[in-house]
Amino acid sequence: MISGRLRDTKLIVNLGAIRHNIQEQQKQLAPNSKIFAVVKANAYGNGLVPVAQTAIGAGATGACVAILDEALELRDNGITKLILVLGITPVENAHVAAEAGVSLTVGSLDWLKNYHQLASANHWTKPLKVHLGIDSGMGRIGFTTVESFNEAVKFVREHHEFEFEGMFTHFATADSADDSYFNKQVNKWEQFVSSLTELPPFVHMANSATGMWHREKITANTVRMGISMYGQNPSGRELAATLDLQPVEQLVTSISFVKKLKAGESVSYGATYTAQEDEWLATLPIGYADGYPRCMTGYKVLVDGQFCDIAGRVCMDQMMIRLPKPYPVGTQVVLMGRSGNKEITANDLADRADTINYEIMTNISNRVHRVYT
Ligand code: PLP
Repeated sequence: MISGRLRDTKLIVNLGAIRHNIQEQQKQLAPNSKIFAVVKANAYGNGLVPVAQTAIGAGATGACVAILDEALELRDNGITKLILVLGITPVENAHVAAEAGVSLTVGSLDWLKNYHQLASANHWTKPLKVHLGIDSGMGRIGFTTVESFNEAVKFVREHHEFEFEGMFTHFATADSADDSYFNKQVNKWEQFVSSLTELPPFVHMANSATGMWHREKITANTVRMGISMYGQNPSGRELAATLDLQPVEQLVTSISFVKKLKAGESVSYGATYTAQEDEWLATLPIGYADGYPRCMTGYKVLVDGQFCDIAGRVCMDQMMIRLPKPYPVGTQVVLMGRSGNKEITANDLADRADTINYEIMTNISNRVHRVYT
């Protein structure tokens, strides 16, 4: 995958803001609570390794990823702390995790039995650290009954190829003003927790939204901090953030070409935009292949502290904007972030694209060079 180091389009990632956001969350948690930094999907687009290193430097006890390959990338880059894969790993690949000391999520007794058989047949001796996933209502992965969970705990404890390191659940509606479904999930989770006389070292239930709006209900010792670590509100705009968060990223580019467009001339594919009068038009080296959605056609960017309209359709690698006056090639343009006293946020882009801030962030493609400040 090629990263565009030689063009001006960049995602500027403020690692200091990551440190700040972790400290803000830590201040609000019970003493001795731990934080796992959720760095899956290239750290929500911000860069897996630099973000994980920063988060651990700021006090995170471990990191969560979605897939084993992400965990191995962290290990290859010298990260020795706990790394948990949140998704289900194919059982035939799980010994790779054991070898690398990576912890895996397990959601069924069958998976454990299959691993046990493979481990016996292949003489895999290094214990595999497991976190048992509990489906308290998310409906995605994990044990749905206390009985099946207890059977799995027993199996793990009776077989030396496993180490029972954690148990966790995940909430479907922690970011919503209506907490009735959330409370049902908490009740169910508590039945699983209270069914054990001895808990594993890591018990985790809270995502960012739980850490923000339901702190008093956390019956666990570890928070999995994702979107709030990146300075974004998990609810979009539904609930006001209760942490003083700093946005971590800015998407910027610069003008690559400027011209005067005459009245009646059209711009971009489909010729959907036609100048009503003579105007200044700038071309920007960014498009939907960089993860700036095509549906931003007709939206706005910031130049020199002013909003400027996008003219015509966003292309794959370039797009055009209308300027209030001629600006030279090389002038900075902000697509997400601040310019002067104006700002375009991830939530603004998400609203326009009819999605959520998470998707805007994770869609910024690897072609966009990441710059760390
Ligand atoms: N835990 C699990 C299991 C997840 O899937 C995710 C993200 O989707 C998180 C934690 C982090 O969530 P958030 O970014 O809302 O904090």
